[in-house]
Amino acid sequence: MTLEQIPDLEISYDINLAKYTAARLGGVADLVAIAHTTQALLQAAYWAHQHKIAWYIVGGGSNILVADRGIRGLVILNKSRQVHIDAETGQVTADSGVGLATLARRCMANGLKGMEWCVSVPGTLGGAVVNNAGAHGSDMASHLVSAQIVDFTYSSTPTTWPCEAMQYAYRYSALKGQHQRYIVLSATLQLEAGHVPEELNKIANEFITHRKRTQPPGASLGSMFKNPEGDYAGRLIEAAGLKGYRIGGVEVSRVHANFFVNVDNATAEDYAQLIAHVQKTVYEKFGVHLELEIELIGEYSPT
Ligand SMILES: Cc1cc2nc3c(=O)[nH]c(=O)nc-3n(C[C@H](O)[C@H](O)[C@H](O)COP(=O)(O)OP(=O)(O)OC[C@H]3O[C@@H](n4cnc5c(N)ncnc54)[C@H](O)[C@@H]3O)c2cc1C
Repeated sequence: MTLEQIPDLEISYDINLAKYTAARLGGVADLVAIAHTTQALLQAAYWAHQHKIAWYIVGGGSNILVADRGIRGLVILNKSRQVHIDAETGQVTADSGVGLATLARRCMANGLKGMEWCVSVPGTLGGAVVNNAGAHGSDMASHLVSAQIVDFTYSSTPTTWPCEAMQYAYRYSALKGQHQRYIVLSATLQLEAGHVPEELNKIANEFITHRKRTQPPGASLGSMFKNPEGDYAGRLIEAAGLKGYRIGGVEVSRVHANFFVNVDNATAEDYAQLIAHVQKTVYEKFGVHLELEIELIGEYSPT
């Protein structure tokens, strides 16, 4: 089967990825396929695998920094969006391309408690499963029962991974950073049934208010670095005197120093230089190595 023959897949060539990433930047991908179903997602990856073409899955693009020179190969944009909610048992099964915040709202409307923390976390369910996204004291690991995953090392047939197989830790899973290998097709979550939607909304709205007060608006990637054990990356960056520090069009936020905001047509290279500068400065001042939470993908210059 050719790529064009795969149902529910829209193909285009030489597409600038800026509009598909939260930082609103990034170069051109040779080939972009928008997958509207999990079947299309799997078939597109399988096609690339068979033709030995590099492939990358992009969900909301909210945790990736795409290189200015772009991506050679196939970018599969995941728009698979089936959701099944069982309001009585609290079990929810959704395609990996569903927006995390949209899913949270639907769960809350059905009286299911557990996903309020992610009403303002951008991205897809798949990206959240891969990154063990979390906020306000909760995370994916707390709710995931299992996920349908393909591991191309062994086969193109999906298998069910129980939550334990993900090896979850803080913003980490066994799947993270493993391009051309894994696809998360769907995930099953266990939530608490029987709650009053208005009360869940109230909790979620408090989280949103807190975010608006503590995080900057504008194009960014959320937290750039993981919090080091027993400390906060933002606190260290601020204590190093870097709030407001700018390279090219990107600036260390004056509201929250772990956010780097694209204030004026920043390039990925601006970001890469700011990342290196912040890591070096924090290391020199405090002896702490800040580990990236976000992922750099595409053709970067060797460091
Ligand atoms: C303003 C802002 C606030 C944020 N706040 C938070 C927060 O509070 N907590 C938090 O944890 N994160 C936060 N983030 C980061 C981001 O929202 C999460 O990491 C999110 O889960 C990423 O999902 P995504 O769909 O955008 O992933 P993408 O950025 O599209 O992809 C991330 C990685 O996952 C892989 N991937 C995506 N989908 C699949 C799939 N179906 N199968 C296999 N691999 C896949 C990609 O190939 C890539 O390697 C924030 C980001 C922004 C911009």
